[in-house]
Amino acid sequence: MTGAAGPGAEIRVEGVAVSPGIAVGPLRVDLRRFSRPPSHPVASNRIEGELKRFRAALESTRKQISADRDTLASRTGGETAGIFDAHLQILDDVELLRRVEKRISEAGRNVESVFYDIVSTFIERLREAENPFFRERATDIEDVAGRVIANLSGTDPESESAAAEDHILFAHDLTPFTAARMDHRRALGFATVLGGYTSHAAIMARALQIPGVVGLHLPEAELERATTTALLDGYEGLLIINPSPATLESYRALAKAKEEREGGLEHLRHRLALTADGLHIILSANIEFGSELESVRDLGAEGIGLYRTEFFFFESGSPPDEDKQTANYTRFAQVMQHGGVIIRTLDVGGDKLHPEFAEREPNPFLGCRGIRLSLTEPAILKTQIRAILRASAAGKVRLMFPMISGMEELRTALALLRECREELRREGQTFDENLEAGCMIEVPSAAMQADHIAREVDFLSVGTNDLIQYTLAVDRGNEHVAHLYQPGHPAVLRLLKHTVDAAHANGIWAGICGEMAGERLFTPLLLGLGFDEFSVSPSQLLEVKEAISLLDSNQCRDFAEELLLYDTPKAVVEACASWAKIHFAKSVIPQSKEGRRRESSISSSSS
Ligand code: PEP
Ligand code: MG
Repeated sequence: MTGAAGPGAEIRVEGVAVSPGIAVGPLRVDLRRFSRPPSHPVASNRIEGELKRFRAALESTRKQISADRDTLASRTGGETAGIFDAHLQILDDVELLRRVEKRISEAGRNVESVFYDIVSTFIERLREAENPFFRERATDIEDVAGRVIANLSGTDPESESAAAEDHILFAHDLTPFTAARMDHRRALGFATVLGGYTSHAAIMARALQIPGVVGLHLPEAELERATTTALLDGYEGLLIINPSPATLESYRALAKAKEEREGGLEHLRHRLALTADGLHIILSANIEFGSELESVRDLGAEGIGLYRTEFFFFESGSPPDEDKQTANYTRFAQVMQHGGVIIRTLDVGGDKLHPEFAEREPNPFLGCRGIRLSLTEPAILKTQIRAILRASAAGKVRLMFPMISGMEELRTALALLRECREELRREGQTFDENLEAGCMIEVPSAAMQADHIAREVDFLSVGTNDLIQYTLAVDRGNEHVAHLYQPGHPAVLRLLKHTVDAAHANGIWAGICGEMAGERLFTPLLLGLGFDEFSVSPSQLLEVKEAISLLDSNQCRDFAEELLLYDTPKAVVEACASWAKIHFAKSVIPQSKEGRRRESSISSSSS
């Protein structure tokens, strides 16, 4: 947190950007959590009344959830309906309800407290479960139980919401319940203490196209002062309380520049990404959920270079069955046509679960994550692989395994792929016999062994988000060490080079799908290293396409060779910035925001 003390002073709090955009408005603080309601005895002649109250609260909750599902479905194209359906199922859990009714009669206490005690025990048990899907379910149950208790205690969220004016919501966490209320309350954006990029909150906010920032640690005393205007920057992950006139003005200028910039890049939409000397680079997009698909295609992405299937699984509440997955992946293949889609098998773990789950493992990023988790649940992985194979009958589909750290993991995963192929053949199901299987390179051990890996797969795709964090021992989500998270680190450059060279030496192609691929500052380096494919987040696609069009691949090769000689990230970034100044001089973007950010983070870490 930065800013001068005193009323009215501007306070800047950094968090994690999860949904892009800028919002300006009053901050509305809602830090309520799922907490124990008051408990009091109930005379035996009032037990029946308590039971009636309980059933009525369940019915009201059911209606509210259905209404929220419909409201959000109309805004997000049905993408979020699965979350609410899962919530409705909780209300129909006969065993849970039977136990509550029995306990009210036995204990002679008010229904709120009985319901809370039973549900809390259940939630605790789920949080301790081995299976991450059960653990994730705990959050859903807490959300629904919170609604039931609110209805029992006469807190009607709908009537509260009617009085609300436009505002930025600051909540402890954002559950589907809060998100639904946000919609009703005309929220301009949301800010939370908890949550990660892949929390339900983030999925829904992005589907709703509301700016969002999570992981904001702000003392409650500051929040009390923060009732006036706030500015939420969903690009950089910043909450600015009491923004000064100068800050507001600079954001107005930023919004205007963004609009102009987008206009200036429009003509590139439907062109291939070609360097100035005519080298074709595959420029694809990363995608998290299906509602983005058509807009990504219309933006001119050549394919989907990374489909993060975790979101699809989370939205379904439990692992979707094979037919549901096949239908989903088939749609991707059909929409993207010949450019196709690279479907990554499930990569849960790390920060890709509710934070309460992540806290259960002492080092979640070094724990049971990605392929490690999938290999402990081979039935889930096989269902996904079979669905990916079946979808390949409809168009260009490739499969990719995440978080591979060595040959045993890769070979076990490839053996499962072979097993699935054989099963489908026996069943007479059609699929692409030539489906390409690739390996993500995001663990340093995999990068060092890229030559071994490249002999057994059809392509490599570097996930720099993880590769950087594991190489430099810097948590990618920890703001305290963010200045040490340096894509331009010489060790990272060496691993990138080793990977691309290993792929090419074995006659396969190499892509890059981490965020680094979208930072124009590094486009000359990555081109020069020889990456054949870049997969970037949709918002960066046209900027990178323009950068590629301004570069000569031979010059970039020499430049990359030179960069590999530098021994500090500072030297690399400074050289990249000087190069960008010269070679991007004709760009509609004078100097990329990433470039400025990288340069300033380098100077803050070296000063
Ligand atoms: C990466 O690690 O670079 C990557 C693309 O995977 P994710 O961000 O989903 O971990
Ligand atoms: Mg990764």
